[in-house]
Amino acid sequence: MKYALVTGGSRGIGRAVCIRLARMGYHVLVNYANRTDEAETTLELIRQAGQDGELLGFDVSDGKQARAALEGWQDAHPDEYIEVLVNNAGIRRDNILALMPEEDWHRVIDIALDGFYNVTQPLLQPMMFHKYGRIINVASVSGLKGMPGQTNYSAAKGGIVAVTKALAQEVAPKNVTVNAVAPGFIRTDMTDGLDEASLKKTVPARRFGTPEEVAALIGFLASSEAGYITGNVVSINGGLYT
Ligand code: NAP
Repeated sequence: MKYALVTGGSRGIGRAVCIRLARMGYHVLVNYANRTDEAETTLELIRQAGQDGELLGFDVSDGKQARAALEGWQDAHPDEYIEVLVNNAGIRRDNILALMPEEDWHRVIDIALDGFYNVTQPLLQPMMFHKYGRIINVASVSGLKGMPGQTNYSAAKGGIVAVTKALAQEVAPKNVTVNAVAPGFIRTDMTDGLDEASLKKTVPARRFGTPEEVAALIGFLASSEAGYITGNVVSINGGLYT
């Protein structure tokens, strides 16, 4: 059995990635924070895709919770390891910096960056030991160009870009690749409150992307065929950034 873990797998892009990885033959561990109902729907969709999976609920920004969940899984599966990790969990709490509460600054950054550390660090040694691993981090166009009204989110995603490049160089000799994807506007709960009709006019492709389109890209980066791609950030934005 081959195992993959997707953080924030209960909804949106994460759910589509879970289904994609199931179609690639992975037993998928679905992490989520609160929405057990949505995570169960993802699990059902994984089963409909012909594979199985399990729910692993924990707040990625909480180091103790993350370690307990991941060590618990490893103890229960002493001969197995998680070979694909998709760090997808994320939130946005937009505001201009002049009005941004400290709590919103920290929460967005903690989920992205502490979340990256808390989940990735415990899984690295088994990947390196087995000389195979794929890590894909979900960044954003905001982390590449910076978005007004999103200093916290831009900082978080910019950090994800940098950490992707740094870690890729550490683990490349062990055949572990680390890449990031940088989506533009993707239609999910996260973008639900946005004015899609006017925002899509700013996108050269004149539409928002779908979670399935992002999942297809992540699926490729997670495949064995992508073994010589590492330390990269792949934009998927309908031409918005370029
Ligand atoms: P979404 O529909 O709002 O889903 C967010 C997911 O993250 C949910 O599964 C949620 O779990 C999980 N999550 C939130 N906080 C968590 C925590 N502390 N611990 C564990 N899981 C947590 O968002 P999305 O649009 O699919 O976004 C997924 C990723 O893509 C994020 O990193 C986001 O920044 C990035 N992104 C999105 C867009 C876009 O346009 N949608 C663009 C660029 C980048 P619950 O269901 O339990 O709440």
